[in-house]
Amino acid sequence: MSGITNLHESRALSVGFRAGVSRVEITPQAPIWMSGYPHRKHASRSVVHSLWAKVLAIEDENARTVIVATDLIGLPRAITDFVSARLQEEYGLERSQILFNSTHTHNGPVVWPNLRAMFDLGKREKGEVLEYGRGLAAHLFRAIAEALKNLEPAFLSYGLGKAHFAANRREWTPEGVRIGVNPLGAVDLDVPVLEVRSQDQQLRAVVFGYACHNTTCPDDSYELNGDYAGFAQIELEKSHPEATAMFLMLCGGDQNPNPRGSFELAERHGKALAAEVDRIRGASLRKLEPPIQAAFENIDLVFAPHTRETFEKELREPDPSRRRRAAAILKSYDESSPARCTLYPIQAIRLGPDLTILALGGEVMASYSLRVKKEYPGNLVVAAYSNDVMSYIPSRRALREGGYEVVESMVYYCQPGQYSDDVEDRIFAGIRSVLQRVGLHSEESLAEATPESSLRTRLISLFRDLNVGTDLEWSADTSLLRSGLLDSLATLQLAEWIQRQVGADVDLLQFDLSEEWETIARIEQFIARHRQSQAG
Ligand SMILES: [Zn+2]
Repeated sequence: MSGITNLHESRALSVGFRAGVSRVEITPQAPIWMSGYPHRKHASRSVVHSLWAKVLAIEDENARTVIVATDLIGLPRAITDFVSARLQEEYGLERSQILFNSTHTHNGPVVWPNLRAMFDLGKREKGEVLEYGRGLAAHLFRAIAEALKNLEPAFLSYGLGKAHFAANRREWTPEGVRIGVNPLGAVDLDVPVLEVRSQDQQLRAVVFGYACHNTTCPDDSYELNGDYAGFAQIELEKSHPEATAMFLMLCGGDQNPNPRGSFELAERHGKALAAEVDRIRGASLRKLEPPIQAAFENIDLVFAPHTRETFEKELREPDPSRRRRAAAILKSYDESSPARCTLYPIQAIRLGPDLTILALGGEVMASYSLRVKKEYPGNLVVAAYSNDVMSYIPSRRALREGGYEVVESMVYYCQPGQYSDDVEDRIFAGIRSVLQRVGLHSEESLAEATPESSLRTRLISLFRDLNVGTDLEWSADTSLLRSGLLDSLATLQLAEWIQRQVGADVDLLQFDLSEEWETIARIEQFIARHRQSQAG
């Protein structure tokens, strides 16, 4: 090969991406208290497979970004801010350029202060957990530095598949919403795949994601492992020993694997996911091009109003987690600083025109990713459990329904109660702002409905708010009832909305639901008829 050809080649490559990959083992070296379930009684007993922090660094001519995947329940802001500040100081990375994701495995160590009211830790156990966190921060920094040091020319490509073991877990019962299986609830089965190859076409990294809790293993086990995401990574690295497999947890806040309850099932789900990742890699990938763009904002999420009395009462309750939460909140009252809101991180990393990763904090429900992808059709990956995991993030509709993710989990997260009604509005305003900063704009047809918008636009906006079939194309003849899209709560809310449009009490029992409300066109006709009869 002549020198001239080599020169041409290196110039051609210099305008593309460069990528660096690294990993560091983060399996606790000694028995440690495990996170995810409140009823564990002692520290871990054994290790099924190692836990990892894996790093993909990417750079183009002008910018860099770093994606960090960890087999952990949830990296808290205390750690991600600390590591980011050091990276900023020593490598000049902006906060927006660093994405930390956690797989949410329920078979890993406690990562303090994530879920801090869940555990009854003695002084020694607490010391071990804090020590693990300090070591973890050092490990993360070292792994990121290493990935930045081994950047070399790379080809990036992206594809999308589906896996089918996630199920909506918010089951309706006469006593309210419980954790179970809800076959009618929202699910997001997407499996995004980002492939990284070297200049000579060697596979270097595969980043893939799924929106489902890592809760397949028994909830009373004391064996450290990464659950299905851990098994999926192992499977991919077994068939591609030259590559690093990285899992990103997506919006699986209200999703559980189905079936679940054993190590065998965790391995089976992991293998199914790995097989789908390889199928997509073999079938259809789109090559990505620079530039890299990144944006990051912290917004405020507001809690419902609370008073000191609530926690004085809670302090006397039998549940020790509630007593721990109450004590912490009362202390904040004593110090005149009771939390009225919490910071919420929203980040976007765009890799050219064909892929944007939106990374949200917390345990985000699937309806969020369905709604974002609807508003921004194209190649958008919506990760959750990113940069901080401060709580579950319920949809507006789930807030009205209640249940574990909305109410009880806030005790374990040591938050002073559920969020105010506007949590989804605030997050979507933040998402639009962050995506706009990387050049993405929402579809005009789905722009916020105003009182001046057409009846059709406002109806579609209502269905979106109700999280009704958010992955559907809405048209005048979309069948609502026969397709089971409207459950009883959504039907009631639609009825209330129609009453407001008509401007008078309508006898809702008088018309046949399946006839009058069958399609969007019929609802429009119904409202028009009532308005006419009022005018006449
Ligand atoms: Zn969870």
